[in-house]
Amino acid sequence: MTGIAGLTADEFYDRRDHRTDLVVASPAYRAASIRITLSPHATSFADQVAFLTAVNLTARWCRRISLSAPAVALDSRLGTAFGLSGMSAVKAAAALAHAADPFARVGVDLVPEPTIHLVIGTDAPRGTYPILGRGWLAMAGDAVRGDGDTENPLGAVLAACVGVAYLFRTAVGIPRPARVRLSLWNLRGGEAAGQGPRLPQASLGRVLVVGCGAVGSAILYLIPLAGLGGVFELVDHDRVQISNLSTAPIFFADNVGDDKVEIAVEYLKRNRVAAVTHASWFDEAVAAGRILVERPDLIIPAANERNVRRQIQHQAPPLQVYGTTGKNWDAFVGRHIPLKEDCLTCRFPQAQPVGEPPLICGSGTLPTVPELETPVTATLPFLPAVAAVMTVAELIKTALPGYPLNANFGCLDFLGPLKHFIVVPHAPRRGCICEEQDGVWIQLNAATIFAQLSNSSLRDSCVRE
Ligand SMILES: [Zn+2]
Repeated sequence: MTGIAGLTADEFYDRRDHRTDLVVASPAYRAASIRITLSPHATSFADQVAFLTAVNLTARWCRRISLSAPAVALDSRLGTAFGLSGMSAVKAAAALAHAADPFARVGVDLVPEPTIHLVIGTDAPRGTYPILGRGWLAMAGDAVRGDGDTENPLGAVLAACVGVAYLFRTAVGIPRPARVRLSLWNLRGGEAAGQGPRLPQASLGRVLVVGCGAVGSAILYLIPLAGLGGVFELVDHDRVQISNLSTAPIFFADNVGDDKVEIAVEYLKRNRVAAVTHASWFDEAVAAGRILVERPDLIIPAANERNVRRQIQHQAPPLQVYGTTGKNWDAFVGRHIPLKEDCLTCRFPQAQPVGEPPLICGSGTLPTVPELETPVTATLPFLPAVAAVMTVAELIKTALPGYPLNANFGCLDFLGPLKHFIVVPHAPRRGCICEEQDGVWIQLNAATIFAQLSNSSLRDSCVRE
């Protein structure tokens, strides 16, 4: 049986909110009443993306939501994405909120009680918090400006996450962000935040996505909206659980019990992106010869169970781009250009099975992730989407001249004022398994489409830490 039939509201919320409760001590968010408005002059694709994303992610923790929007039809791309073609924007938003949380009180232009009010647009009334995305820029508070690219959804998605973080911080009594201006183009904030170019229509080639949980599924949510294509292979053994409904924008209550990869592939196919499923663990899929027989051009490692990061690195992987979330309200983007930058194991040195000597890099300062089984990931409802939009921004840049355009590690701290990204280059570590992979890497990956980034002569100029 799939779905949540038979559960009471309390039983549903106990399971749904578990990951959120691991991060915040205050249960005050459960009683919050939220209003989200799409203003009459903000009805473009980017604005509708911001509206739907904000409503979708708010319905992952807030139980009372009031919506208002002008009578505009849902953009056809969003209609296709969610199977809601022909609806108005506000009806579609309400449908998503209901699907995410069937017990929520979601209404249009009602909610008599005091509310925290988020507005997508430039003409926000006093006492409300405005957000807007234009091109690669996410803006909030008095940084909001209406001019710019309305066909790029990236800034809009990040703006929605900033807006939902504002609502959540208000609900739990944490000081709120004020003026926010962040660029996914140059990973800078404030006046240094760059506008960036228009989005290319780009193919990523053959893409292996390992993990369709909170971050992996949020990346897949954004792939077609950002105009990215390719042939996707999705690997994940898990089924959708109620706890996944606290974060994942493409998982809804009716999907509980279904394979995550099936729901994700259904979403991609509906959006005309080619995709196939492997409902198994990464190591099992490798052992059975179901993946990596034909080399992928790109791997998105979005899992951390069963020592999977080390197992991926043992396959001498091609270019890797991914996002992660931390337990302190932070979201990260990572990249590994083989033979040039650090690898997945350099960055996530893990506990070793008995009998295998510890790596030198295991003494590094980066967080150790020792779990061998599926871990329960503490996270907040909007953080995986932040990690995902940073990841998709990096993926789009692979199609632009001069790639790579920024350092291979970026972070946004959603407990702080959101003034800047933290961007830090990571070099390979001495003693890591990637040190011995140069020869085999070239044999395996020379024909992959991002191989030219891994000019082996660069290894000589790269200083191991
Ligand atoms: Zn390494």
